[in-house]
Order: sequence, then structure tokens, then C-alpha cells
Amino acid sequence: ASTWANVPQGPPVRITEAFKADKFPQKINLGVGAYRDDQGKPYVLPSVLKAESKVIAALMNKEYAGITGVPEFTKAAAVLAYGADSTALDRLAITQSISGTGALRIGGAFLARFFPGAKTIYIPQPSWANHAAVFKDAGLTVEKYAYYNKDTIGLDFDGMLADIKAAPSGSAFLFHACAHNPTGVDPTPDQWRQIEAAVKAKGHFSFFDMAYQGFASGNIHQDAFAVRHFVAQGHNVALAQSFAKNMGLYGERIGAFSLVCADKAEQKRVDSQVKIIVRPLYSNPPIHGARIASAILNTPALYDEWLLEVKEMADRIITMRAALKEGLEKLGSKHDWSHITSQIGMFAYTGLTPEQMDQLAKEHSVYATRDGRISVAGITSENVGRLAEAIFKVKG
Ligand code: PLP
Repeated sequence: ASTWANVPQGPPVRITEAFKADKFPQKINLGVGAYRDDQGKPYVLPSVLKAESKVIAALMNKEYAGITGVPEFTKAAAVLAYGADSTALDRLAITQSISGTGALRIGGAFLARFFPGAKTIYIPQPSWANHAAVFKDAGLTVEKYAYYNKDTIGLDFDGMLADIKAAPSGSAFLFHACAHNPTGVDPTPDQWRQIEAAVKAKGHFSFFDMAYQGFASGNIHQDAFAVRHFVAQGHNVALAQSFAKNMGLYGERIGAFSLVCADKAEQKRVDSQVKIIVRPLYSNPPIHGARIASAILNTPALYDEWLLEVKEMADRIITMRAALKEGLEKLGSKHDWSHITSQIGMFAYTGLTPEQMDQLAKEHSVYATRDGRISVAGITSENVGRLAEAIFKVKG
């Protein structure tokens, strides 16, 4: 028998097969987790193209980066996340990572090795599908805390606070910094203040996943509110950053993992252990995307241009949310669709059932995940009318 005869078939990772097989020309794919322009095409930011040209023109060599990556990049990434005047910056252990996923994986491994409390991380219910897998593979046990209220299609704030209070003191909690995936439901700044107080009262540890800084509201500072507020209140947080969405650098795999430390001495010790985790995983990270991101973050003209482009992407998403809601209302839908516009980021939770989602695909060639999540990035001025009709026909 073959050496691998005992390998069982795993479940498919994505459900784009049905979309590909559909011959209907006006089919709509709302399953993708990447930004699309108003023509439904992948978008390369002009600031990224300019930064890349600059990198190529500099004729740099292709030597290895250090284990923790390109220092000009990580330094600028930290400023972007924590703010230029943050007191955390000079006691921050930071490493470049294989995008947001890799940052979570390094953070998970660090917690599995050194977190003094239970090796358990609490993630929201629901959360990005990969969170549980990443943390389990890193050696942590994963528990859920209440997050989403399906009756209001909004935040289950009371449930969330109750679960934070009920967890053993000194537990580790994963928070989506902004643009919660998959629900699009974020706490308000005032709710974040209450969450912070509850977390502090229990002595919990906070790990932020910030995959969408700037992409949610269009403003990089506003989207970093939760992270910066926690740090200002004295939490030495962990943070996973991704430049996939806000710079459109998906396939370049650019991100960063950082830990705010108590002081310089702690930073040095933590940094040494982060290196020990990274080295056997992949030795050192890729340089090209880091150079692009670094050129944008460290060149004032490119940085300003990038800020406008991030806002443009966020605004298009916000506009499409409004257009979808309006379309449904114009068709005479009696449902309250205000959650479509109060939610934020790439994804919207429609509140449609798995059966209704199947019907959308079969009868209307509209494809998304069965949990009712649609990628607003897949909506365009052209298809929003047809989408509203399809949802109206399925849900009323
Ligand atoms: N975290 C969340 C919440 C996400 O939605 C994503 C991407 O969809 C990621 C992390 C990581 O993405 P990447 O590894 O492409 O940066």
C-alpha cells in the first residue's frame, strides 16, 4: 500500500467551486475576503505601485532579513498601530510576520510557552474561522465568549461582559480591534471603555487582532481606538497586525506581531524568545512586501496618498452598504435592515438562515457563506440592485 493510504480526505477549505461552476453571467460572489473595486476587480493601490517602483529602483540586494524582519518596517508598523506618541513604543517587542495569520500564530505560540495563567484563549462567538485553528495548532485551548446577538443582529454586550467576568481571573482574551469578522459588529468606544474596565477588574490579558486598521472607518486612528485605549489604561497587550487589507498586500504576506512589555529589560527577554519561536518556523520573513509597506509608511508623500486610498476603499464599502439597504427598502421589504449600515468593515451579517443562503445561490446565483455573511467588497453599483432583489425574494 502507499505510504499515505491512511490519509483521510479533509473537508474543502473554501466554497468557491459552486460559484466557478455557475454559468450565469450576472452571478455574484460575496464569499471573497478581499477588496474589489466598483467593477468587481482586484485593486492594487496606486501608492503601493509607486512604493514598489521605488523599491525596485533602489536596486537593493536580496540578502536575508533578520529573524524579526525589516526593522524600518516593524518600527513604522508599531507607530501606525500604537500612535506616534505612545509610551508603549520604547518597550515593545515586535517582529515582522507572515501577515496577520502568522502574527496570530507567533502570538499563540508565545502564550503557549510563557503565559502564566491557563493556556486557554477566549475568542468571540462567532470569530474569524481560522482563529480557533491557529490557536489550537499553536498549543492553546480555545474557549468562546458571547459576542453576537442573532435577534438584534448586533452586539451581545451584556453576554460579552458577563463572560469576561465569569472567566477565571488572569485569562487571555482575543479581541478584534475593529471590523469584526464575520459579523461586522463592533463595540462602540463607550462599550470598549466598559470592556476594558471589566478586563482590568479580572486581571485578564488582552490579545488584539487588528486585520483592518483604516479599512473599517476609513481612519487609521479611529480604528485603532480599542488598542490604544487599552494600552493607555495600562494593559500590556499583544497585537497582531496585517497589511493585507489596508494596503491590499494580500499575497505579499506582510504583518507584525508585537507585545507591549513592562520595561526595556523585559522587552529584551521577550524579544529573544520571539526569535526562538520564529527561527524553527521559517527562519526569517520575506522582504519584498515589507519594503513596500515600509516605503509607504516612511515616505510622507506616499503615506498621505495611502491614507486617502484606504479611506476610498472604506467609503466604497460604506456606500454599498447604504445602497443595499436602500434597495431593499425601495422594494418594500418590511424588515429592519439598519444593521447593514451600522455594521462596519468588509463583511455584513445579513441575518439570513443557511437555507435562505442556499436559495440565494441556487435561484439567484448569489454566493456567500451559509452563516449569512456577505462580503460587501463584492457588491458594486452594477450588481447591488440585483442583489437587493434576490435578498428580497428570499427573505421578503
Ligand atoms: N484576522 C482576521 C479577523 C481576518 O479577517 C483575517 C483575514 O481575513 C486575518 C486575521 C488574517 O489575514 P492575513 O493572514 O491575510 O493577514
